[in-house]
Amino acid sequence: MTTRRHFLQQAGLTTLALSIPFSDSIAQALGKEPKVLRVAIMGLGSYGSRVAEAMKDCGRAKLVGVISGTPSKIAQWKEKYGLSAQNCYSYETVDQIKNNKDIDAVYVTTPNALHKEHTLALAKAGKHVICEKPMATTAKEGKEMVDACKAAGVQLLIGYRMHFEANTLDIVKKQRAGEFGKTLFFQGLSGFVIGDPSQWRLNKALSGGGAMMDIGIYSINGARYLLGEDPIWVTAQETKTDPIKFGEGVDETITFQMGFPSGATASCLSTYSLNYLDKFFLSGTKGFAEMQPSTGYGPIKAKTHSGPLEHSHVTHQTTQMDEMAAIILDGKQPLIPVNGEEGLKDMRIVDAIYKAVKTGQKISL
Ligand code: NAD
Repeated sequence: MTTRRHFLQQAGLTTLALSIPFSDSIAQALGKEPKVLRVAIMGLGSYGSRVAEAMKDCGRAKLVGVISGTPSKIAQWKEKYGLSAQNCYSYETVDQIKNNKDIDAVYVTTPNALHKEHTLALAKAGKHVICEKPMATTAKEGKEMVDACKAAGVQLLIGYRMHFEANTLDIVKKQRAGEFGKTLFFQGLSGFVIGDPSQWRLNKALSGGGAMMDIGIYSINGARYLLGEDPIWVTAQETKTDPIKFGEGVDETITFQMGFPSGATASCLSTYSLNYLDKFFLSGTKGFAEMQPSTGYGPIKAKTHSGPLEHSHVTHQTTQMDEMAAIILDGKQPLIPVNGEEGLKDMRIVDAIYKAVKTGQKISL
């Protein structure tokens, strides 16, 4: 394989390489195909399938392998995506992936409580890891994942697809440019009615919690990227209408508030018991932004005090995977980070929210 250094030497571009990343556009200008990130998906469930379909339209990311505990699924995916047998693993054989030069990164789409174990195994095998949200079930686990990937010299990215969505990015840029004035209030409403009571999302051992882990985390993350700062305190209250379906440690509904260094506050709702709850509102001294839906698969609908935003819909996971390829292969810096530290910030807030619910106290971060 042509290394970056070898390629640049051939092209006489070693000096240039010191100042700018090996980007898509340079490669194209030199008549070279941009490098493609070769991805394996671990956990062939509903979201893994969605990512695989979306990757068909990627220019810079390609599905080349799978890791699954179900041989029949491996057979189906091999056939459907033309995967080679050498790139298909079970959870028992996945450590052998370290010898596979044809896989650059693994996308972990298993239940939340398995993210740490899977990420650590992949880091040990020298593969970059893209891990779904929530990155883990506690900040302690998240920190172990960040440290393990750092020690192994691999990148850890979290599947925050909204960080690449056009309407979201437009509002973030407007907020940073001061178009809304001083932004002092965010409202985040995140929820849906969850079905099958036997699914892993309602099993604390696999989910690590309830709605907060799964959907409430979008309001935490959204508050941070739309206000452009990280909270310094949280307060939270839990309500439960169905203690059978939502057992011990599985939150059904939590309302929570966050306070930020600028004096801004956020008021949020996370629930597994109400539909049509997918809304962000950002209020400033000179204007506002509103998104509804704000984090669903889209199309995202957004407006500001100046009128509606008109960005066309692109499948979120397609943009995400192309951008993540540029982050991993070219060192591209996204406007809103998606690295392990970013996931860890959210996990620290989730921990604090659960602590606030338990103690009834305001928790400092
Ligand atoms: P899912 O149940 O549809 O898929 C999970 C997969 O993990 C299944 O294929 C299952 O067989 C496999 N698995 C491996 N070991 C398992 C074990 N010990 N127990 C149970 N399953 C095991 O779930 P999903 O909806 O695809 O969610 C997977 C992850 O993706 C979760 O972390 C979730 O939060 C995340 N997710 C993210 C988004 C997003 O928009 N970013 C959307 C949906 C799900």
